[in-house]
Amino acid sequence: MDLFPEPSNVRNVGVAGHIDHGKTTLTDYILAEGRIIARDLAGKARYLDYWLEEQKRGITMKTTVMSFHVYHNNGMFLINLCDTPGHVDFSGKVSRAFRLVDSVLFVVDAVEGVMAQTESYLKLALKEVAKPILCINKIDRLILELRASETEIFSRLSSIIRRFNELIKKYAPPTVKDRWLVDPRKGNVIFCSAIHGWGFTYDQAMKSGLRFGDLIDMYKMDSSKIRKIFPLGEVLVKTIIEQCPAPNVAQEARVRNLWRGEIPDELLRCSRDGSTIFYVSKAVVEKGRIFVTGRVFAGEVRIGEYMCLNDGKRRRLKNLFVIKASKIETVGSVPAGCIFGAFIDARSGETFA
Ligand code: GDP
Repeated sequence: MDLFPEPSNVRNVGVAGHIDHGKTTLTDYILAEGRIIARDLAGKARYLDYWLEEQKRGITMKTTVMSFHVYHNNGMFLINLCDTPGHVDFSGKVSRAFRLVDSVLFVVDAVEGVMAQTESYLKLALKEVAKPILCINKIDRLILELRASETEIFSRLSSIIRRFNELIKKYAPPTVKDRWLVDPRKGNVIFCSAIHGWGFTYDQAMKSGLRFGDLIDMYKMDSSKIRKIFPLGEVLVKTIIEQCPAPNVAQEARVRNLWRGEIPDELLRCSRDGSTIFYVSKAVVEKGRIFVTGRVFAGEVRIGEYMCLNDGKRRRLKNLFVIKASKIETVGSVPAGCIFGAFIDARSGETFA
């Protein structure tokens, strides 16, 4: 299996949301599709919690990105799932984390709706030109706690989508604003209950003839049936692949944040030929050395010397790593569109060429 497929088969994605809306529970299902945790532990493993614990002690690379391969429509895709810092107050940190990804899944509780942190994260993601995907979670609460009727569920979900779109209109760069509004018919909205392991898009519901009224009935009888028909992990991965732009598509709109002056063609197209340009999102001192997590925006990173565009000095890149499943692997080179770990004397937010 190719460690690095073509950029068109790479997806760099993050997950964000207001606290308690279900980000940790939902992320388990993505990781189970990548075989990082066992399928039957999804929703219970709370791997993000473990991830955060590791962050306090462990190797930064491992705790910043989780990479895995999945098959979809006969193609092999590399998904790099990147961590989003838990405190939106450190907005610089969040912005730098969002610079690694091309899309962010936003988890919103169906009962609580869009909250302050949803807005803060959405604003930062849009500033980095990362495309939002909306996951309306905890739909079971509308049925089991609020005893909402089909019409009430519909109206509640519509109002969340409306509010989310108001924020996109407010914060998105004009170049993407209209295209990125969420709309169930476009496939960029997932309706789910992470705790019960199910989720679907409008298209899937239409194909199977499902209405919210049927969900209410299923909850009255045998709710485990829903997760068999609409397994959450599958819809999450399918939506990431279909909705998160590939780096070669995304970069044209994104790199203006990264580069001043005329933008080299290879940077716009995420070309693997031509000069190498990479960005350092996170830098921490580990055992006396600076370990960075970065993204290659053009060319191919190899061990050697690069110029830091922030201060004009040359630095040596020592060792190069990627995460495969949850293990760190040493590699010889990392191509454009992909995320890597390395030892280099750099600070967060620096660009190298
Ligand atoms: P995070 O803070 O966004 O990471 O949220 P968690 O994943 O930790 O979830 C917060 C709480 O909500 C936990 O008690 C979860 O079990 C619960 N939870 C997560 N998803 C759902 C859901 O779909 N429905 C319900 N009813 N509870 C959920």
